[in-house]
Amino acid sequence: MSYWRTDIKPLLDAETGTLFKQAPIRVTLAFPNRYSVGMASLGYQVIYRMFNQEEGVACERAFLPDDVDAFERTGQALPTVESGRDAGDCELFALSVSFELDLTNIIRMLDVAGMRPLRGERSDTDPVVMIGGPFTSSNPYPLTPFADVIIIGDGEQIVPVVSEALRESSTREEFYDLVDGMPGVFLPARHVHEPTWATAPKELLPAYSQIVTPHSELSNMFLVEAQRGCPRPCTFCLARTMYGPNRNNQAQELLDTIPDWVEKVGLVGAALSDFPHTKFVGRTLTDRGIKLGVSSIRADTVDAELAEILKAGGLRTFTVASDAPSERLRRWLKKGITTEDLLKTAHISRDLGFKGIKVYMMIGLGPENDDDITELIEFTRELAKINRVALGISPFVPKRHTPHFADPFGGVQTIEKRLKRIQKELRTTAELRNVSAKWAWVESVIARGGPEVGMAAYSIYRNESIGAWKKALDEVGWRDEFEINTPAISLPPGQYEAREVSAHAEGLAV
Ligand code: SF4
Repeated sequence: MSYWRTDIKPLLDAETGTLFKQAPIRVTLAFPNRYSVGMASLGYQVIYRMFNQEEGVACERAFLPDDVDAFERTGQALPTVESGRDAGDCELFALSVSFELDLTNIIRMLDVAGMRPLRGERSDTDPVVMIGGPFTSSNPYPLTPFADVIIIGDGEQIVPVVSEALRESSTREEFYDLVDGMPGVFLPARHVHEPTWATAPKELLPAYSQIVTPHSELSNMFLVEAQRGCPRPCTFCLARTMYGPNRNNQAQELLDTIPDWVEKVGLVGAALSDFPHTKFVGRTLTDRGIKLGVSSIRADTVDAELAEILKAGGLRTFTVASDAPSERLRRWLKKGITTEDLLKTAHISRDLGFKGIKVYMMIGLGPENDDDITELIEFTRELAKINRVALGISPFVPKRHTPHFADPFGGVQTIEKRLKRIQKELRTTAELRNVSAKWAWVESVIARGGPEVGMAAYSIYRNESIGAWKKALDEVGWRDEFEINTPAISLPPGQYEAREVSAHAEGLAV
């Protein structure tokens, strides 16, 4: 029995909005993670629709099998979702990548689709490999050994350019000539530096879902993008730089994208509570009996009216980001949220009958010390007297294109010690969920590394583990920042000028 029939066809049958098209130019749009994760990506869905709107182009999706090893043992070729054709049998193999830790999955995906992962080992007759998504805008350099084309910035602007080049070219060099110099197009075979970012023109927004499925991580939810970018100055966050200028859509534009049959709408936006139409759109939808989903809301913008709309939309837990364990570190991050704001949100959540409040935060911040963790513990106890509290704790991962680019990672031992203390002291007070410090360290390396980090991933992609990463990075000459108290990082050896990247980060300092 084929994998497509047993594993993919049931997923396909449960979808609403699938596009079926045949055309001379075949695009495989791959997501290097499970189907449920990929289908929750709004950007992935938009690019899928846009390629299928192009003349002469048919785009089908492919995902990494849940159990890749077991799939490989079957000896079958990775199928696309729509028709079950071989995913690698196409003119363009495009990958949309959201997370740094999917670096090894990208390589595995190319491998399992029957393609040679390394660009230098592929020939002119192989599909063009194009990689885009938030990861590439954050740091494209670890992807340069694998990609023919890397897209930096908004994908909407790129799809027509790439489609035209596919229609007009008959060789790889001709294709390169046609896309070379376009904003957002990075050709590792020709370029050393990343280009200026592509910014989607207003007429291509808002982004909205194409397919709704119960098998997405956002089950049966139709996503629509309220705004892109962010006007706030939080220094750690890529939303204000990576997603270009802040662009708000009109309320009616959002409502017009939502089909009548939709029962659940997810409003997408990095700074949703700054979006001027959140209440209007939320109330309009809940009046129609539609359930709502929203990302976290800034605590300083929460009021009873907004909370009531979200409650009517079916939300049971209020989610806010504190982002730092103490008031002084929130100031350091220019987060602009105070202890008072968080307490006020907890009171509103309790008064309106929300089951609890979920607070996201990061630890391992540069100037952090034990006093900051003490403040976090004491403050969480205060919050827990008001409403049930869940803490989502992530180690701080400094990113390029932020003023923290050259900050050292907080150190695995330091972060683990602080997590242990938090768990011990808040075990009976709050529900605690945290991201592994060791994997956050790997993420921090990928987030700021160069091609050599990509090659380290290539050497371990079939047997990935923390130990394998440490060894592989050691072999490519990456300085060990794994342990505590490392001084400010030095940039890795790479094909780009460290000075220039650093200056770019400084230019964004606020
Ligand atoms: S943390 Fe939130 S408010 Fe701050 S820049 Fe990022 S999206 Fe905007």
